[in-house]
Amino acid sequence: MTENKDLIWGHKWGYRDTSLKISEDRSVMMTGSRYALSGYKMPYLIPYIEELLDIKIEPQDTLSEVSPPYITPPHIQPDFCQAIKDSFPPHQYSLKNSERLLHSHGQTTFEEVHKVLYNRLERIVDMVFYCESSVDAQKLIELATQYNVCLVPFGGGTSVSCALKLPPTETRTIVSVDMKRMNRIEWIDRENLRACVQAGITGKQLEAELNEQGFVCGHEPDSLELSTLGGWIATNASGMKKNRYGNIEQIVENITLLTPTGTIEQVAPTPRASMGMQLHNLLFGNEGNLGLITQAVIRIHHLPEVTKYGSLLFPNFELGVKFLYELAHSGFMPASIRLVDNNQFRFGQALKPKATGSKAYIDKLKKLYVLKVRGFDPQQMVAATIVMEGNAEEVAYQEKIFID
Ligand SMILES: Cc1cc2nc3c(=O)[nH]c(=O)nc-3n(C[C@H](O)[C@H](O)[C@H](O)COP(=O)(O)OP(=O)(O)OC[C@H]3O[C@@H](n4cnc5c(N)ncnc54)[C@H](O)[C@@H]3O)c2cc1C
Repeated sequence: MTENKDLIWGHKWGYRDTSLKISEDRSVMMTGSRYALSGYKMPYLIPYIEELLDIKIEPQDTLSEVSPPYITPPHIQPDFCQAIKDSFPPHQYSLKNSERLLHSHGQTTFEEVHKVLYNRLERIVDMVFYCESSVDAQKLIELATQYNVCLVPFGGGTSVSCALKLPPTETRTIVSVDMKRMNRIEWIDRENLRACVQAGITGKQLEAELNEQGFVCGHEPDSLELSTLGGWIATNASGMKKNRYGNIEQIVENITLLTPTGTIEQVAPTPRASMGMQLHNLLFGNEGNLGLITQAVIRIHHLPEVTKYGSLLFPNFELGVKFLYELAHSGFMPASIRLVDNNQFRFGQALKPKATGSKAYIDKLKKLYVLKVRGFDPQQMVAATIVMEGNAEEVAYQEKIFID
């Protein structure tokens, strides 16, 4: 199952069918039908942003994207280029400007996104290589070593640490190695609850394919749709359900990393060994500096019987933090709990559609209760969002404790 790559914006975040449009009545609508927010009017969003930033939003007052984008000519070593042509079919490498631009940045707001859209990146990769197997990866590393070429692994391109930002002073040819074609689940071990997965699989595809088999990985960073297993390992990622499934270093049992001087992997992956150092622990967070991660063995779990969502309101952030401390000390955590501050809370409210009929009436009563009866200040109150997951009994118990 590979998603059509044309559905995704070339050089910017997300899908082409999804964007925000302002109507004449200044309400905002998300186009498409991909998300829960898609297709309905959000009348409170612009007033919220205007109040928060103390600005007036004029829908006609837009900053145009730089067009065409500024892209420096590729600096390709001819001998290396010839060796690539001799070794791989044309669909595995590209010198196209649009592909080069897409692979030259992550999503770090000002440092990368703003430059791509409205200014210019100082350095663009010279070639993009699409890795389809570990044999390809090995061959590419050999050629890069032979011709002194710089390789930059690329997963979903969702990095927010500037790790995909290219040094302007780099004079060697830079090749971005796109791993997303290596997106297969190699095997599932149902007895020992583990799976061997190629590193370029996105979180969305991984969960969908595991779910079909009755399993779940449970690693859910907010970038799940586009980020990849290799990227998670290379950035030491954390997912929102870490309380139940662990962070990436608890999920991964073996990593296969190809480097210019050999391959690092355990001969036989074990869940844990009380002998010697666990070499693969040193590989988390390497940000692509050590080589290409081609696959990993991960822990999997049976699909949870029940998943339920809830939220708690607190009069202010300090009391929300106090509650989280108490929860952590009790050792009793739901799969996910997140405290959002007042700005995030009000942002969430601003994304809601205008309620009508009985829903409007109930909303009004709830508001009255929170603001008038409980005396919460709308400029101070915060919320914690909760995800409870497990078997029916476990979730019912959690619900009783957290929500009732
Ligand atoms: C909207 C949004 C929400 C986010 N939410 C979270 C979150 O909840 N939790 C979290 O931890 N992070 C989050 N992030 C940050 C980002 O998604 C993670 O760092 C993610 O792990 C990056 O994965 P990627 O596949 O996109 O990697 P990329 O961005 O493509 O690359 C990141 C780094 O990993 C290296 N790399 C990628 N693939 C490989 C490979 N196969 N072999 C070797 N090196 C490789 C790259 O060279 C680069 O240094 C978020 C980012 C965005 C934009």
